[in-house]
Order: sequence, then structure tokens, then C-alpha cells
Amino acid sequence: MTLSGKSAIITGSNSGIGLGIARELAKAGADVVLNSFTDSEKDHALAAGMAKEFGVAVRYIQADMSKGDQCRGLIEKAGGCDILVNNAGIQHVAPIDEFPIEKWDAIIAINMNSAFHTMAAALPVMRERGWGRIVNIASAHGLTASPYKAAYIAAKHGVVGMSKTVALETAQEPITCNAICPGYVLTPLVEAQIPDTMREYNMSREDVVKNVMLTRQPSKEFATVEQLGGTTIFLCSDAAAQITGTTISVDGGWTAL
Ligand code: NAD
Repeated sequence: MTLSGKSAIITGSNSGIGLGIARELAKAGADVVLNSFTDSEKDHALAAGMAKEFGVAVRYIQADMSKGDQCRGLIEKAGGCDILVNNAGIQHVAPIDEFPIEKWDAIIAINMNSAFHTMAAALPVMRERGWGRIVNIASAHGLTASPYKAAYIAAKHGVVGMSKTVALETAQEPITCNAICPGYVLTPLVEAQIPDTMREYNMSREDVVKNVMLTRQPSKEFATVEQLGGTTIFLCSDAAAQITGTTISVDGGWTAL
């Protein structure tokens, strides 16, 4: 499938899942805007490298997704938006009575409020261009809960609910809005935790992965950033034109338990 001529904005895309999705969109021919809150040479070099690798336009636009005006500014600066992927996210783990207020506020702002602001700014642009795809990266924790992750789970459930609402508001237009709910995904961040956990529990890599990290993922395999990219491409395809207001789990069976 080709997304040639389409412009895609992926929030939080200088690493991990966002970068993986951006790479698959560029591979499919879309022009891509990468984003994070930093503004380093490395960020711009990443965009230049991808442009060369895939032969599409790739720009890096700095914007802090914890700030509503910067979320809206990202869409404005991009100058066009056919595909919006809300991916930026952070995590903090603590019991609710000890949860730091500033962490709660940051998680709700980056993981949930940013999607409100970017969707509000992107929808008029999509309407004007007569086509749009919104893909919100929620989580298995948008559908289920775990202890100590109150802010993350509240935000991800919020993203799932917001996706349904936007789908209803755009139901009679050529625009869809869905949420992808990944289980545990092998990102550089997750990979980096493996050696420490091996030492902590005196376990092999295989045991750490299967019995510590993937206890709730029945497949005992991580999802990959390429698989999440592929799911995003599918949601952008004509085959998915009637898929809107729903969640797609990429979680090795987690939510079937
Ligand atoms: P990551 O830390 O590699 O990526 C997060 C991205 O968000 C980075 O590019 C980071 O720079 C960016 N970001 C953070 N704060 C930002 C801010 N204030 N403004 C703009 N960008 C900001 O993590 P990841 O695992 O790739 O996670 C990406 C998304 O996928 C998150 O929403 C996360 O909740 C979700 N998710 C991850 C997993 C997993 O197992 N890795 C599972 C389910 C859902």
C-alpha cells in the first residue's frame, strides 16, 4: 500500500514505538514529522537520515506535549496533517497515596491531554483536505489495570474513551479515529532494563523476559515496534475505512485472560 502524498505527524517519535511507527509510515511513502520535547542535533540528524533512507520528506519539530499550546503549535507548524499518531508517553509507578502530584499532572498532560489538543487542531486540517486517520497509542492498560500505575491507567483509559468520541464526531466523514493497545513492546528502554533485572533476580535473559517482564503476556513474546507500525499502516488503508471508534490490541493475548 502506498501513502505517497500523505503527511503524517507522530508525537514522541525520536525513539521507541513512535520512531518505529514513523519509519513504517515513511517506508509506505508518507512524508513524516518527527517530534519530541528536545531539540538536539541528533533529533534533526535522525530526520535527515530517514529522509535519505526512504526518499520522503522528514522533518523534526520540537514541541513539548505536556503543554497544550505547543501540542496545537506542532500541528500548525507541520502545515498539513493527514495522519496523526498520538504516541508521546511517560510512566511513573507508585501507590496512589504516595503518588507525586507533579508526576500525576505530567502523565495526564503528556499521555492524555496532548491527544485532545493535537486532535482538536488536526481535525479542521483533515476536513479541509477531505481525508484523515487518527491513531492513538493507548496500552493494554487502556483496557485493564495494574496496581501502582493510577495516572498511566487513568490517562490510557481516557485516550480510549476520547478515541471513541472523536470517531462518533467524524463518523460521516472520511476520517477514522482508533486506539492501538500494545502489551509489552521491545523498545530500547525495555531492552536496557533486562541486564539489571538479570542481575537483581540472578536469572537468565530468557527467564527475565518470560517470567518477570511477560508474566501477563500469554504469548511470552514482546510485540515489536515494526508490528505497531504495520498495525498503523493497516488503519491508514482503504480496508480499514469502516474501522473507527475501536481498539486494536497488539498484546500477545494479555487482554484475553
Ligand atoms: P519511549 O520512552 O521510547 O518513547 C516515548 C516518546 O515520547 C519519546 O520519543 C519521548 O521523547 C517522547 N516524549 C516524552 N515526553 C514528551 C513530551 N513532554 N513531549 C514530547 N515528546 C515526549 O517509550 P515507548 O515505549 O516507545 O512508548 C511510546 C508510547 O507507547 C507511550 O505512549 C507508551 O505509553 C505506549 N506504550 C508502550 C509500551 C511498551 O511496552 N513500551 C506498551 C504499551 C504502550
